[in-house]
Amino acid sequence: MTAAELVLKDKETKFSFELLPPLKGNNIDKVYRTIDTLKEFNPQFINITSHREEYQFETNTQGFVEKKVIRKRPGTVAVAASIQNKYGIKVIPHIISRGFTRSETEYALIDLNFLGINDILVLRGDDTHKEKYPPREERCNQYAIELAEQVNNLNKGIFLDGTEGEKFDTPFAYGVAGYPEKHEEAPNMESDLAYLKAKVDAGAEYVMTQMFFDNQKYYDFVDRCRAVGINVPIIPGIKPVTVANQLSVLPKIFSCEIPEDFAKELRRCKNNDEVKQVGIEWCTQQALDLKKNGVPIIHFYTMMATKSVQKICEAVY
Ligand code: FAD
Repeated sequence: MTAAELVLKDKETKFSFELLPPLKGNNIDKVYRTIDTLKEFNPQFINITSHREEYQFETNTQGFVEKKVIRKRPGTVAVAASIQNKYGIKVIPHIISRGFTRSETEYALIDLNFLGINDILVLRGDDTHKEKYPPREERCNQYAIELAEQVNNLNKGIFLDGTEGEKFDTPFAYGVAGYPEKHEEAPNMESDLAYLKAKVDAGAEYVMTQMFFDNQKYYDFVDRCRAVGINVPIIPGIKPVTVANQLSVLPKIFSCEIPEDFAKELRRCKNNDEVKQVGIEWCTQQALDLKKNGVPIIHFYTMMATKSVQKICEAVY
């Protein structure tokens, strides 16, 4: 079954979550610990994020400018394969365009096909804040839809250089990202929805949302999607707040508002243990409300929040 089929397979509200591959230099144990903590809630799939390397240009002692990689989180494909082998749970590796050439993407997709991983999330990714000279962009897909088209071609057996090979026995099924509070670069919601619809028309089987802290924003988004003819499942993604600085960091990074009621409670906390507890309570209420409103699945962002997600799931599933 594809991820979209799993989402729709029965009327129950199901569970899925996202995790990050380890930073370069760390081993995979933390990934396994997260899964060991959450697998009792029967995740339908686990998403594994993908990250371009972050770098900056520095002047060396001879006065030459050189590129220095400052952060790397490799291993999306390998982490996905190891999870699928170890736990037998469906994995959805993220494939991003920015920072990867089309041919690097083609190789990653061929690797995934050989590994029997046929579900992916197709994304654009972001430019890194530190880069002054965006590299090789002419050889990268610029928007998620171009990456979706590359995947569609590969599903037909057509490679980048125009040669044709054997069609994949199991073509890639894919989802795309959607933004209940609008993508930060979109001039307005209408424009963002038009591009989202184009991704769905290209073949995306579901939309997975950016995190939100006000469920009404998600319900309104679903209504607006339906009004423009986006009829695939729209999977809500939520995250428990775990540390005080997320009050400003999350809105900045993910362009999502924190409702004032919630912000007030967070500001009152004297330490991060209290923040964690308030975050669990808010996210539990969000999840219970989504469940009451019949969403087919709730997707949790687990970064720095595995234990919180565990507590929420105990209350919801
Ligand atoms: P797109 O769909 O390409 O849209 C980007 C912007 O361009 C939007 O404003 C859209 O309205 C506009 N647009 C779209 N198509 C066109 C076009 N043809 N012409 C002009 N404008 C256009 N990032 C990572 O780096 N790694 C991850 O693993 C990752 N996982 C994510 C998972 C989820 C569920 C979500 C919601 C986001 C994730 N992101 C990840 C972040 C994502 O890559 C960024 O939000 C990125 O800025 C946009 O990606 P997109 O796929 O939505 O882009």
